[in-house]
Amino acid sequence: EALSHRFWVNGSLSYSNTIPDGFYLIQGMDPFVWSMCTDVHEENRIPSVESLKSVRPDDSSIQVVLVDRRADFDLGMLENYASSFLSSSSDMKDVINQLAKLVSSRMGGTTSNEENLLPRWKESSEAIKSSAGSIVLHLGKLPIGLCKHRSLLFKMLADKVNIPCRLVKGCKYCKAEDASSCVVRFGLERGISG
Ligand SMILES: [Zn+2]
Repeated sequence: EALSHRFWVNGSLSYSNTIPDGFYLIQGMDPFVWSMCTDVHEENRIPSVESLKSVRPDDSSIQVVLVDRRADFDLGMLENYASSFLSSSSDMKDVINQLAKLVSSRMGGTTSNEENLLPRWKESSEAIKSSAGSIVLHLGKLPIGLCKHRSLLFKMLADKVNIPCRLVKGCKYCKAEDASSCVVRFGLERGISG
């Protein structure tokens, strides 16, 4: 929860923050407004994933993206697939490019302007929410992903193959308030997103 809280509030994760099962990303709810409206006084103020699971999708514009390799078979598959890149290439730059392509093809393809993806993202996330009866979506099962989802998945896969990767706020493909991008340490730091 501490790490989920940090990403929710700051939109960043450092090289050393590996993403554990149970990590979740909340979208459509402002951390500041939420903390003003609750009586929670713990250090890490974030709604618990249990409480979010009980939110009905029809009366909420919130969505939660959960990392859970045990329940999310696709996510484990993607990690295994990413590991196979390492055995096929010893060139880090090549592995990074393969990871970026994998993430992009899983999450709706490349686009020069992320706004093009927004209608598809809304449509597919609403469809999954209503069929699952929950606002909690699994990261590995998203058919479309915006930069936030893409960078989260990229970091998970990069961690898996030991490529130093951190997440930062902001994105060059969109103007979303909660946008984020990956930075990989590769000689000089180099930004990757989209
Ligand atoms: Zn973006």
